[in-house]
Amino acid sequence: MQQITEDGTHINGANGTTNSIQDEDNRRLTDEEFERYSRQVIVPGVGKEGQLRLINSRLLIIGAGGLGCPAAQYVAGAGVGTIGIVDGDVVELSNLHRQVGHSTSRIGMKKVDSLITHLEGLNPLPSYIPHPVHITPQNAADIISQYDLVMDCTDNLATRYLISDVCVLLQKPLVSAASVQKSGQLIVLNCPPTPQGLVEGNCAPCYRCCFKKPPPPSSMMSCGEAGIMGPVVGMMGVAQAGEAIKIIASALHLTSQSDGPDRNLRQPSLLIYTYDLESAVGPYSFRALKMGSRKKNCFACGENSTLTLEGIKSGNPNYDQFCSVPASSRSLPPEERITAAAYHRARERGELPEHILLDTREKEHFSLGKIDGAVNLPFSRFLMKAAAIKRDGSPVDDILPTVSTGVDTPIFVVCRRGLDSQEAVEKLKELGLDNGGQRKIVDIIGGMKAWKEEVDPSFQFI
Ligand SMILES: [Zn+2]
Repeated sequence: MQQITEDGTHINGANGTTNSIQDEDNRRLTDEEFERYSRQVIVPGVGKEGQLRLINSRLLIIGAGGLGCPAAQYVAGAGVGTIGIVDGDVVELSNLHRQVGHSTSRIGMKKVDSLITHLEGLNPLPSYIPHPVHITPQNAADIISQYDLVMDCTDNLATRYLISDVCVLLQKPLVSAASVQKSGQLIVLNCPPTPQGLVEGNCAPCYRCCFKKPPPPSSMMSCGEAGIMGPVVGMMGVAQAGEAIKIIASALHLTSQSDGPDRNLRQPSLLIYTYDLESAVGPYSFRALKMGSRKKNCFACGENSTLTLEGIKSGNPNYDQFCSVPASSRSLPPEERITAAAYHRARERGELPEHILLDTREKEHFSLGKIDGAVNLPFSRFLMKAAAIKRDGSPVDDILPTVSTGVDTPIFVVCRRGLDSQEAVEKLKELGLDNGGQRKIVDIIGGMKAWKEEVDPSFQFI
């Protein structure tokens, strides 16, 4: 484990690893470094010392996507000396509107290799280390321990908790960001790092201190479902780079504070950015919420925490379960499910009675293509209406779109990939819309993805 002291040099950690960086780095910048970094070296607060700290530092970027690409560009441009990049995916065409470190000609290439190709063109001086894997409880500590500072540029909640936990245990500062659809957030955590269990004073919080529990999965949408605006996620990635450069160049908060935090620790803030597409002129969209310091009872960093690296490696805690990643199949009985192909066949043969086909995708998805006769009830709206019925006793029929049908008219439900539709079937039954079993409510297995695969290959599935 390497750390950077206030004078910018590395020291060896408890595991006794050695490093090749000089204890005192008072060298001159080379002519190329001098010219390449001159515009930032003269900025107050950077100087030659700050630049040498950047050159001597080791930074890990987890995720080479919408956040990781802009973040990597700016830390590479600034001269961070060693940059590790973790990502197990390959470049896809649908990535390119926001993942600006890749290119059309590199579709199909591993993202880590594609991004490093781009970064080497921008600045060949840093060492770039590819980790072409998904970060997991089994490999996270081995990878993170090789670096001084971590940037979480992933888009997965379970991974976010995992990275934070490992950073707590390895005492690494963490710059964490997230973005979906039209908003983004950013927070600096474990900065300065303090040992697990130390709660005296004003220790910096971890992700769990700020977000003790994940939001319910039904309230979360991925980029694939909700969509994402390139400038929004780009802005958050650039802001992450800014925070990382600040932490390293100033060397204020990189060192582990074993006897308590820095006297001058500022309370961390959660930066929230919201982008209003409907408003051409409007109020500025940045907000900063003050966050508290380390929580005494925090599961990861609090005084009675039992979290260990060995435990994480062996599956304790179970991150997917904690974030309730939905299982691939719920427990609807077979008679309440039908494949896309069987539904289509029955329709074509006129074997289906008059029915309602509810499509629970968001309206933007629906507007791009649908099954003939489908009516749209976006899942988010559906959940709100269902909650209102339970809370206020609104009429149950309010939940269905206005279509003239009888109370026993069967309902078929289709969504994007077949998960929301199962929940919708369960909720419709809970609300009594099955009329005690008189009315059939049926899930179309696999949603519009299955419709494309089994019925209509020309359907433009997003
Ligand atoms: Zn904590």
